[in-house]
Amino acid sequence: MTARTHDLAAATALAVAVLVWAPESIRLSTLLIALLANQLGGITPDIDQPTAPLWRNLPEGHFIGKAFGKLLGGHRFISHSLLGLGLFAYLSNLLLHFLHPLMPHVDIRLVWWSFLIGYISHLVMDSLTKEGVPWLLPIPFKFGVPPLRSLRVTTGKAMETFVVLPVLVAINVWLFANHYATFIHLLHHVVS
Ligand SMILES: [Zn+2]
Repeated sequence: MTARTHDLAAATALAVAVLVWAPESIRLSTLLIALLANQLGGITPDIDQPTAPLWRNLPEGHFIGKAFGKLLGGHRFISHSLLGLGLFAYLSNLLLHFLHPLMPHVDIRLVWWSFLIGYISHLVMDSLTKEGVPWLLPIPFKFGVPPLRSLRVTTGKAMETFVVLPVLVAINVWLFANHYATFIHLLHHVVS
């Protein structure tokens, strides 16, 4: 899937998570950093390819991306598995604890979950594509939904643009229309 689809999927997954585990109140700083972490989580698995958005926007990023790709075993390998999820969960937790003294009012547990929700949404969305996802590495089998490969999405092609993206938009519209009060309640309990 393209980065745009992953961004929207990460936000959609976060909206669902908020409805299930809505905190009573949230600090503005936590909210903003959690939103950023969610979007980062949504594109992190693709740091295993030099064309990833992160590498495209960095000077010499292409070369760093290549190196990361090699380190992670190539595209759609470790970072696209439960093993990778565990690895990045561990690393992001370390990073957040390291950064916490700089932002003591931020609830890093919420930020961490927001990152993970974005990350998991990426793996779920990539499972809908023809290449599939090696969820159970080191077992090298790539899983996909639906199991019949020919019915899955080709990244960047019409099915993604005209079916997957509109469905994600529709899910968001439906979520906000049907749970408007919950989201407004949370917005009213954003504290500085
Ligand atoms: Zn991916």
